[in-house]
Parts: sequence; structure tokens; C-alpha cells
Amino acid sequence: MSLTGKTAVITGSNSGIGLGIAWEMARAGADVVLNSFTNSDGDHKLAAEIAAETGVTARYIQADMSMGQDCRALIEAAGACDILVNNAGIQHVSPIDEFPNDKWDAIIAINLSSAFHTTAAALPMMRNAGWGRVVNIASAHGLTASPFKSAYIAAKHGVIGLTKTTALETAEEPITANAICPGYVLTPLVEAQIPDQMKAHGMDRDQVVRDVMLARQPSKDFATVEQMGGTAVFLCSDAAAQITGTTISVDGGWTAL
Ligand code: NAD
Repeated sequence: MSLTGKTAVITGSNSGIGLGIAWEMARAGADVVLNSFTNSDGDHKLAAEIAAETGVTARYIQADMSMGQDCRALIEAAGACDILVNNAGIQHVSPIDEFPNDKWDAIIAINLSSAFHTTAAALPMMRNAGWGRVVNIASAHGLTASPFKSAYIAAKHGVIGLTKTTALETAEEPITANAICPGYVLTPLVEAQIPDQMKAHGMDRDQVVRDVMLARQPSKDFATVEQMGGTAVFLCSDAAAQITGTTISVDGGWTAL
């Protein structure tokens, strides 16, 4: 699979799944744009490492995905966006009646509204280029629910709805839009949930990993960021040209239960 000549913009890609997808896109030949809101030396170093190892052009562009205008500015600054991967996401674990308003607003903004803004900015570029791929990183929690994650689950269900609408609006064009639904992938986002889950369930770390996190993942194994990247690259391949408006679960069987 060669993505040479394509530019992939991956939101929230200085860590975890987004960084894994950036690496796989670059290994497939795409120029990549990394993003986060941090703008640290380390962020720019990640782009330099990808460029040095794969030979593609890799850039880092700072933009805060909680701000609509930043989302659109990221796409404009990229200058080209053949492949848009909406990946930026945060989590907060709390019962609904104790869920902080600001956490609700931030999760809806970063995990859902950002994908609306980037897609709105990217579709005209894809149309001009005559080709485009939108890959939204949803979640098994876009298809099912768990307690204590109301905002995240609402946002991820919303991302899948946005994916379907994007696919229908581009159905007659060489543009597709799909969502990847990961189960648990051991990334900093998941690591950060472990203390809250320990508190909520009164368990130690190993019990939370085995009995809470992987309880619903029949494979009893975490998925990897490389697997997410490989799935995203597949969705950009010619074999996937008629796959649009759907979800691909990479969840060790979670949603088969
Ligand atoms: P992570 O914490 O490692 O990465 C999150 C990324 O989002 C980081 O690059 C961070 O910089 C970026 N980000 C956060 N707030 C931002 C903002 N305001 N502006 C710009 N960037 C911002 O987490 P991850 O596990 O790699 O998660 C990536 C995506 O995958 C998320 O959408 C998450 O919901 C989804 N997901 C993860 C899992 C999992 O098990 N890890 C499962 C299903 C879905």
C-alpha cells in the first residue's frame, strides 16, 4: 500500500494511538502532520524522528482541539489534507450526578466537535484534490456504554453519527469516511484512568486491568497502536474505496458479546 504523495493530518498525535497512526501512515509513504496543543520541543522532535526514519515530510502544528477556530486553522496551516484522522480525545470518569460541567464541555469539544470543524475545513481540500479519506477514531464506547463515562460515550456515539453523515454527503465522490472503534489500547489515556477506576471500584491496579478494563475484551489482551495504524492505512487503500459510513471494531471481540 503506497500513500506516497498524500498528506495525512492526525489530530492529537504526540502520544498513543495518534502517534501510532502517524508512524504507520509515514511507513506507507504519506507525508504527516502531527498535532497537539502543547508545542513542546518533544513534539517537534517526534516529527523529526518520523521524517528521519521513513523519509517522508513530517511536520508538527500546534492547535487546541477544544477550540473550533484552532481545528480549522490546523487544516489550513497543513495546506493539504488528503487523509484526515480525527483522533484527539480525553476522558473523565465520574457518575452523572457528580460529573463536572467543565469536563463534560471539554470532552464534547475535543472528542466530538473538533471532528466536525476539521472535517468541514478538510472536505473542500479533498474535493479539490479529487480524493480523500476521513478516519475518525471512535471507540467500542461509540457502540456500547459503561457506567461513569457519560460524556465520553455520548461524544463517541456522536462521532459515529458524524461519520455516517460525512459518508453520505461524499458518497458519490472519491472520498470515504469511516470510524475505527478500538477496545482497550494501553496508551497514556488508559493509564490515566487506572487510578480513578481503582477508586471507583475499590480495587488494586491488577484487578482493575483484569476485571474492569479487559473484562469486556474477550481476547484478554490490549490492542496496540500499530494495529490502529494498520487499520487506518487499510481504510486509505484502494481495497477500501467502497467502505464508507461504517465502523471497524479493533476490540478483541468486545462488541461481539
Ligand atoms: P492519549 O492520551 O495517549 O492521546 C490523546 C491525544 O490527544 C494526545 O496526543 C493529546 O496531546 C491529544 N489531545 C488532548 N487534548 C487535546 C487538545 N485540546 N488539542 C489537541 N490535542 C489534544 O490517548 P489515546 O488512548 O491514544 O487516545 C487517542 C484516541 O483514541 C482518543 O480519541 C480516544 O478516545 C480513542 N480511544 C482510545 C482507546 C484506548 O484504549 N486507548 C480506546 C478507544 C478509543
